[in-house]
Amino acid sequence: MMIEVATLGSHCALQVLKGAKEEGFTTILVCQRKRESLYRRFGFIDEYIFVDSFKEVTSTDNVSALNERHAVIVPHGTLVSEVGAKNVIEDLGVPVFGSRRMLLWESDRELKERLMREAGLRTPKTFSSPDEIDRLVIVKLHGAKGGLGYFLAESPKSYYENLEKLTMSRKVGGGAPLYIQEYVVGVPVYFEYFYSPLSGELEFHSIDRRYETTVDGLGRVPARMQGSLRPSYVVVGNTPLVIRESLLEQVFKMGEDFVSAAARLAPPGMIGPFCIEGVYDENTEFVAFEFSARIVAGTNLYTQGSPYTPFLFDGPMSMGRRIAVEIRKAAAKGSLSKVTT
Ligand code: ADP
Repeated sequence: MMIEVATLGSHCALQVLKGAKEEGFTTILVCQRKRESLYRRFGFIDEYIFVDSFKEVTSTDNVSALNERHAVIVPHGTLVSEVGAKNVIEDLGVPVFGSRRMLLWESDRELKERLMREAGLRTPKTFSSPDEIDRLVIVKLHGAKGGLGYFLAESPKSYYENLEKLTMSRKVGGGAPLYIQEYVVGVPVYFEYFYSPLSGELEFHSIDRRYETTVDGLGRVPARMQGSLRPSYVVVGNTPLVIRESLLEQVFKMGEDFVSAAARLAPPGMIGPFCIEGVYDENTEFVAFEFSARIVAGTNLYTQGSPYTPFLFDGPMSMGRRIAVEIRKAAAKGSLSKVTT
């Protein structure tokens, strides 16, 4: 049986399909018609399934088209945000690389927090009611897309004022459930890992930081003129980062503890790529505010490998390619069920 590798046309599709091609797979892109001209520029995409909206990936026709080709879908942020973890679990009748169940744990703020605590990660304080706000907080939408509609508040009063401004600018729908979290002052850092169920080993691949508008641009405006400006947190891109070598030991430990916690709380646990996201505070202590249980777009920086991947691999290794290597090895051993769900 010849397996093919498929993904949705967005987020890190180029990296994933390029990596799959390098490992000898035929590649399939589930592509919105409006993006066809973008993806046609790249010769490593072999086949297309066209949709108007990504939700259509779960339609009977598309599911059969994917299964006829023995496709394995590589999930990424767009699958989670556009199709939704619940629909991926219930309606996507095609093998998915990694654990679908973990996508649900990543999408639900309460489950997410439980897993981070089980992994022993330091997490920011959360507030169940706006009236309890007694420090600087960041207010997030549930199931937010790349920081869209997040805002800061420092008191119940500023919470209601800022919420109203956002509701008026239609960035936040009226009545949307909000999640209030202590704002950790420090520098944001995103750690990208890969856990291989085949070797039982955790690989630490790379680090990035996000480039977010407008918060990363506020420094360009003199402080005395910032009065009326409010930061927003919409991701535009990512920039590379290495951290002090003395901090690496803890980075490995966090990844390993995360993998064991996921295996305890949500068997079969973590399979493949994941990311722990947080801030180093003034004491260089890491406070984690998020995780992603699949490939993140920050790995798009490292299509030729990161500053850390040469310590693990002889040649160039992107996260997309690493996924393809795992699928190839699992298929060769007849153990595809260990790496797909
Ligand atoms: P999403 O899940 O939508 O990608 P995140 O929760 O990763 O959003 O947050 C988006 C951005 O908001 C982060 O990159 C960071 O700049 C900022 N942020 C989120 N939570 C915190 C926090 N608790 N303290 C400080 N900054 C935060």
